[in-house]
Formats: sequence, structure tokens, C-alpha cells
Amino acid sequence: MRCHKCKNTAVAKSTEQKPLCERHFLSYFEGKVKKTISQFKLLKKNERIAVACSGGKDSVTVLVLLHQWGYKVTALLIDEGIKNYRDRTKEELERICKTNAIPLRVVSYKEKFGSSLDGILAKRKDIRACTVCGVFRRTLLHRSSKHFDVLVTGHNLDDEAQAALMNLFKGQTSLLERMGPRSSGEHGFTSRVKPLYFCTEKEVRTYSFLRRFPLSYVECPNASGALRMEFSHALNQLESLQPGSKLHFLRNFLKNTKKLHTITTAVRHCAICGDPSSGATCKSCQFQQQLVNA
Ligand code: SF4
Repeated sequence: MRCHKCKNTAVAKSTEQKPLCERHFLSYFEGKVKKTISQFKLLKKNERIAVACSGGKDSVTVLVLLHQWGYKVTALLIDEGIKNYRDRTKEELERICKTNAIPLRVVSYKEKFGSSLDGILAKRKDIRACTVCGVFRRTLLHRSSKHFDVLVTGHNLDDEAQAALMNLFKGQTSLLERMGPRSSGEHGFTSRVKPLYFCTEKEVRTYSFLRRFPLSYVECPNASGALRMEFSHALNQLESLQPGSKLHFLRNFLKNTKKLHTITTAVRHCAICGDPSSGATCKSCQFQQQLVNA
């Protein structure tokens, strides 16, 4: 297979299924990220930017790219305390930040909630790891990004297509409105932006591999039981039958989201921690009382 631009050996295909050599794939990928940033007005050069980092390929890719393009980034790692996973990705991220002189801030469940995720799971076999992990993670990202102008996440096209499908499936229409490359900061939340929104998981993997980022590509051991994986398999199957399906779905989803009838839940403040909450106390404080302090 030959690159459609220069006839050198192709290493990957674009979303439009055009073969590209290493050099042209790298510039195609970077061009796509830059276009998303400018089209959706995601970032400004003078903003203080926190990049939510897991140490995985997506967040490392967006972190290094923004740093290279002159944005003022700080890496923000939430350490859930997952043995043989987070300790490894944390080390990798520390190395990458050191090499590139990027500031890094680490915030842990243990330090902020009194227990690691592994510690909670060891005591409570009846709960799903991702349910509590997702709530605690959102809380710490919110609290730790308060002093930044914007929070960048490494969500890619596959993540977003899965989330859109899951929210539709569960009838969580109030969440659909908030989806897209940018969610504006309201109710005291920092604006969140997703520069990799139109890059597939495969493209990010190829890019990070070609850039030779020192990553082990290790997966969270709790991910396999997650419902999201089922949606991921379904979308991958569709994509293999009809290449470009995920992008097509996400574009149409974005176009139609605002037309959906949604019920906006009034946002109050948690009686315990004061964070924005739809109930009298937020989910994070409820979990803390039930799972950590019990
Ligand atoms: Fe947390 Fe689940 Fe993600 Fe693992 S897969 S980091 S448990 S949300």
C-alpha cells in the first residue's frame, strides 16, 4: 500500500480511507487536532490550561501536542490507587513531563477521600469499580481545575461515540446536551474541551506509536466488566462493516443534539462539600459516607 500523497510506503489510513506514509500521517493527524481547536474555539494561547492525564496514549498525545504548540499546560493526574495500572502509568507520565519540562500535579483518592479505589473494592465486593471511580474522578477533576481557565481531556472519537450511544440507550437526555468538543463552564465548573474529538482511537494509537512516546499501553484491570466495553464492541463491529460509521454517527449526533427535548435539572450545592449537585448532597459525599467512612 502506497501513500496517496507521495507514494512512499503507507503506515495507516485516514478516516476517509486514504493511505498515508509516516510523515503524512503525522501531519494529517496534527492538522485534524488544530482544525478542531480553531473550528470550535477550544483554546487560547494565554489561558492557564490543565490537561487531565491518565498517562495513557490519548492524554499524553494531547498534552505533548499542546505543549509543543506553545500552550501553557499543566498535567493533572488523578491517582485512584489501582495496583499494577495507575502506578505504572503515573511513572510513565512523570518521565514524559520531566523530559518535556511540563508541570505535573498529582491528586489521589487516598489523600482526598481517605481510601484508594483498591482499598474500597477490597471491602465492598458488591459495587462496580467504574461507578464509584467515575464519581470520585469527576469530583477531583472539578476541584483541582478550579484555578485554571480550561480543562482539556483526551477523549477521542470512539470515547465520544460510545458515550453518546450509552446516554441515548439509557435515556439520559439531560447529559446529551452537554456533549461535544466544548462544554462551557457553568455552575462553577471549569470549561472542558476535547481537542481529539474527531480522532479515532486507532489514529491516536498510531500517532502515539509513531511519535515513540514511552508508553506501556496498559489497560485498567477494572475496564473489562464495564458496560462501555459492550458499546465499544458494537461500534467496532459496525465500523468494520461500514468504515467511517463512528464519525458519521457522531457528526449527525452533534447536528441533532440541540433539537432533543431535554429536561434541565436545577443545580444546587451539596450540603456537605458545597460542590454543584443535583441533590441535597452530591454523589461523591454519599459514596464517601457509604464506602469509606462506614
Ligand atoms: Fe476507574 Fe473504571 Fe476507568 Fe478503571 S476503567 S480507571 S475503574 S473508571
